[in-house]
Amino acid sequence: MSDCIFCRIAAGEIPAKKLYEDEHVLAFHDINPVAPVHFLVIPKLHVPSMAELGPEHVEVMGRVMTTAARLARENGCGEGFRTIINTGRVGRQEVYHLHVHVLGGPEVLPAML
Ligand code: C5P
Repeated sequence: MSDCIFCRIAAGEIPAKKLYEDEHVLAFHDINPVAPVHFLVIPKLHVPSMAELGPEHVEVMGRVMTTAARLARENGCGEGFRTIINTGRVGRQEVYHLHVHVLGGPEVLPAML
């Protein structure tokens, strides 16, 4: 059994509110949302963080990003949304399975940068 919590969600061993799933990609609502819309999109393949991405991940990360865009449109974020990928200790990453946060309205999000 994997000790990666997102691998365990992908395997159905830990429950999550799934938005979308296919062979390569899983999307689910963040358990601790910080915006009215807040979901995560992950590759099912275990990649610890964005820092480990290489040429072999181009296809799956294309799937992750296009899935994030489609789900944002389908979940009330037609006027915009924010995507965040936290990477490593300095990037305040907590779960070491690469994931894209998608955060959205309906109101304008607070400024970050
Ligand atoms: O900081 P990082 O980008 O690693 O954040 C991990 C995210 O995963 C947090 O927003 C947390 O709420 C979420 N999470 C989740 N379901 C879990 C464990 C963590 O949605 N079972």
